[in-house]
Amino acid sequence: MPNSPDSTTQAPDTVHRTVRLRLFPGDAATGILLTAIAGACRYVWNHMLADCEWRYARWKEMHVPALNWPEVREGKTAWAKAVRRKMGPGPSTSFFTLGRRFTELRNDPDHAWLKEYPYKVIRYSLKYLADAYARYKADPENEGKPRFKGRHFTVPAFTIPEAVRMDGDHLYVPRVGWLRLAGSNPYAGCRPLTVRVRMEGTEQHPKWYAYVCYEVPAEQVKQPAADGALGLDRNVGQATDSDGTVYAMPDTDKLDAQIARKQRELSRKQGWGPRDRRPKSNRGRRVNGQLNKLQRKGARKRDDATHQASRKLADTAHTVVVEDLNTKGMTKSAKGTVEKPGKQVKQKSGLNRSILASGWGSWERKLAYKAGDLRKVNPAYTSQTCSRCGHVDKSNRPSQAVFACGACGFRANADHNAAINILVRAGLPCVPVSARGTGAAARRGAIPWGSPTTRERDGPAVQSGL
Ligand SMILES: [Zn+2]
Repeated sequence: MPNSPDSTTQAPDTVHRTVRLRLFPGDAATGILLTAIAGACRYVWNHMLADCEWRYARWKEMHVPALNWPEVREGKTAWAKAVRRKMGPGPSTSFFTLGRRFTELRNDPDHAWLKEYPYKVIRYSLKYLADAYARYKADPENEGKPRFKGRHFTVPAFTIPEAVRMDGDHLYVPRVGWLRLAGSNPYAGCRPLTVRVRMEGTEQHPKWYAYVCYEVPAEQVKQPAADGALGLDRNVGQATDSDGTVYAMPDTDKLDAQIARKQRELSRKQGWGPRDRRPKSNRGRRVNGQLNKLQRKGARKRDDATHQASRKLADTAHTVVVEDLNTKGMTKSAKGTVEKPGKQVKQKSGLNRSILASGWGSWERKLAYKAGDLRKVNPAYTSQTCSRCGHVDKSNRPSQAVFACGACGFRANADHNAAINILVRAGLPCVPVSARGTGAAARRGAIPWGSPTTRERDGPAVQSGL
């Protein structure tokens, strides 16, 4: 797989890049048609999911009595093996199987209306279902089972999986026609592979977007810096590299307050509160749309910040080293169980939200394709180790912001010290990179990026904080 995001060391001939473009349906009727296609995808997903569950329940009914036999359960004797072979691995949920069932469904007179919608677009929603089942079956402990898609909790969207037709700034949506696109597109001349069409905005004011995945020649994408290496310490709300530059996440306090207010407003609407089983009210639907809009705004801000910062890193150094963090494990709820309730549940949930808002995974995904080489190291004790003498002690951290070595007296910003440790742990020498980025800042000579309050390394502000 030459184009997988993890393979940053080899140089493939083409790479995949996705751009988000505004899609204009032109009139309300066309917009409704797009929503209807997305609705048909949702219907088929729910129908096939119910079908898969039904088949699995029947399969279980047939075979559980046999599995209750210890001999069959152990499966050691020839007879037990034969029985298990006959049972099979359970009903298939592959895209091939689901696709075949979809063709049957479409030819069923009761579902003749499905023929009004583009065949491959609707069928492709089952690819997502098959993938969801595959993920679940591979790791049932951590991956949730595929779920039914509710009318009000599903973003209207569909995928044009192949034979994408684009002409200048127009996209052909099957059974709909040519629709106009807008937005800057650096890959306009490249071959489009797939398009995800998605509705954003609110129900009253829908906005459509097309996420076009292009096959781009490798020489057309921006190349990372030729040499140099940086360590990156990702923290809550900011990241620091081994040169001491701080990449702050955007300040979304105002937006977070707006979101919290909207959530409270929504919880008072009929059918929208927790455990409120009444039918969903129209006003609640409107408020839910407004809430989603605010949340998308926050996501865009964070996405933009990590895009800019990861680009800066990739322009500065060829190799970027990060900690191999298990975000999923770190952001587990502290709620505990009824018998053994957790401590500081509220605080932990706030920290979890901050961790997730810091976009640690987003850093990794973006650096994986922007940097020349992305390495991961063991994160244990990077914040408690002295980057000068290697002394490891909890007392090296007198405060959250300051690192002060108990053995050699080395003092630095705690995140900066950790970032150096991360770089050294990858077996790379810690030397300052010559120029930061490739833009105007690099020519002027490295103007640090980040807010002045967090930029201090080992200056007087940090010293006096002790
Ligand atoms: Zn030391």
